[in-house]
Amino acid sequence: MLTIASDAHRRHHPREPFHDFGRMVAPPEVPERVDRILDAIHHADLGEVRAPEEHGAEPVLAVHALDYVEFLEQAHAQWRDETGAAEDSEAVAYARAIRDQPFEEPVHIVAKLGWYSHDTDPILTGTWEAASSAVDVALSAWDAITTGGERSVYALCRPPGHHAAADSFAGYCYLNNAAIAAHAWTDAGARVAILDVDYHHGNGTQQIFYTRDDVLFVSLHADPAVDYPFFLGFAGEHGWGAGEGATRNFPLPHGTDWVGYADALASAAATITRFAPDGLVVSLGVDTAAEDPDGFELRGDDYLRMGEAIASLGLPTLFVQEGGYCLDVLGRNVVNVLGGHEQAAR
Ligand SMILES: [Zn+2]
Repeated sequence: MLTIASDAHRRHHPREPFHDFGRMVAPPEVPERVDRILDAIHHADLGEVRAPEEHGAEPVLAVHALDYVEFLEQAHAQWRDETGAAEDSEAVAYARAIRDQPFEEPVHIVAKLGWYSHDTDPILTGTWEAASSAVDVALSAWDAITTGGERSVYALCRPPGHHAAADSFAGYCYLNNAAIAAHAWTDAGARVAILDVDYHHGNGTQQIFYTRDDVLFVSLHADPAVDYPFFLGFAGEHGWGAGEGATRNFPLPHGTDWVGYADALASAAATITRFAPDGLVVSLGVDTAAEDPDGFELRGDDYLRMGEAIASLGLPTLFVQEGGYCLDVLGRNVVNVLGGHEQAAR
């Protein structure tokens, strides 16, 4: 399988600890994740690894609000200007607006950080460069399917994207790589299904497509009643207006292993088949691994089964990297999904 990957992700390397369930933890979304995945790809001889091509602002602005994109692009420069912080500092939100009160457009960078985020992720001097390159990775992978004759392609995106909403960032995500590629696909006339298998609910992706009937969003994830990202991802969310019926969530309990997971994945696959899409985007997070700090219990071979189950849908498939933080098994699990898919699709 062809992989698209860029080196620009290295410009984004958060190092300051943050609050996570009452503990201070070191950021796990680090450049070494990509190194480990690429090592595994080479080791498994999965196929060619190619650099992305630039796609410009237009596909990004088709999904994200202009004011948000402008904010992301200049946030760190404004942060340095207005706070005197250093080039290598991390800009983090610590103030947020009260709901349903008089509101004036935020002007100061601290207000903007609170306005354009929904957790406490940082913006670094290289965040924009890394995030926009990850979009190019996803779009170049999509190009390889739609115009390059590939049936399935892997976009090794970093930073990930599925928690980024139309106008806010969180969960290590700034631009929604999967959503931008899915939208580009619909722009070319396709009906698209997004299958999000990351441990965490793809709240940003759900928000972006919640009122649309041309993109089906299906997500398997930890129960948002008790786990990040909270607030969204419940089974009762089905979409609004024209999008009614085009969102489907499968919240699963902590401790879910392959038996429970495979059941939900089969229901998710049936939902996708009923939608009859022309193409599939997989938000491929492997933080469902038993070795990951999160609460599911999938094992190495289970990811082969996951790849086979996705292949059984018989669709052109764009895999977009999301989470997965245990460096020792991250590469193996990603390659198992991709390899399992490729074997079964033959
Ligand atoms: Zn995740």
